[in-house]
Amino acid sequence: MRMDEMSSAAFAEAVKKDPLVFLPIGAMEAHGPHLPLGTDTFQPEFVVNAVCENVGGIIAPTINYGQHSSTRNFPGTIDISFDTLRSLVMDILDAFQRNGVGKVVIVSGHLGSVHRAAIKLACERAARQGLKVMFLSDYELAYLKKTEVCEGMPDGHGGIIETSRIMDIRPDLVSSERTEGGFVDMRFMVRADAESCLPQGFGGDARKACKEKGRLVNQFVVDTLTDLVRKNFEG
Ligand SMILES: [Zn+2]
Repeated sequence: MRMDEMSSAAFAEAVKKDPLVFLPIGAMEAHGPHLPLGTDTFQPEFVVNAVCENVGGIIAPTINYGQHSSTRNFPGTIDISFDTLRSLVMDILDAFQRNGVGKVVIVSGHLGSVHRAAIKLACERAARQGLKVMFLSDYELAYLKKTEVCEGMPDGHGGIIETSRIMDIRPDLVSSERTEGGFVDMRFMVRADAESCLPQGFGGDARKACKEKGRLVNQFVVDTLTDLVRKNFEG
């Protein structure tokens, strides 16, 4: 059930049954020349829709912006600050609780560590106020398939896994002209031009991506998260 399609009365009625509420967190972020800016939105929305079909619940509108470091200077990356993101998630979780929501699953497409820390702090505060909350990036699950899907090759932002997953979810948005992106080790330096760690704007051999790999990873993520949600919220 999509929250934005429900009436106020229908939502109030649904909340009485203590439903799970899913909150997808997307991003507008450069993902190399072959992937759309909404890559980190399409992935968690796909996962949340599928998991919600398996376990039931309400899907809240996606937060479509996040905090970005290494891709911040690439065209099309629209980042919000750590404080804004933390406050935004905090306020939404407060409002959920005020509405009687007791169980929330947050799935972020973007894996950035600062981005996730902002969301995590908001979740910890909500947990202390009594909310039962799970928070992950679907990438944390997708990466469990890295050895199988990437056959030992290095892979990262906009690489084999992400390109394959988008080829499964939104093939119309993936360019057929794909190359390989390298990684540069910043040796612990914190730099204003953090994007130089990704000279091509993405990392991994996107030529090795295919729809079948994406289907395999997406199915694995959906199945694994379905299990996790059942174990933590049901019974
Ligand atoms: Zn991404």
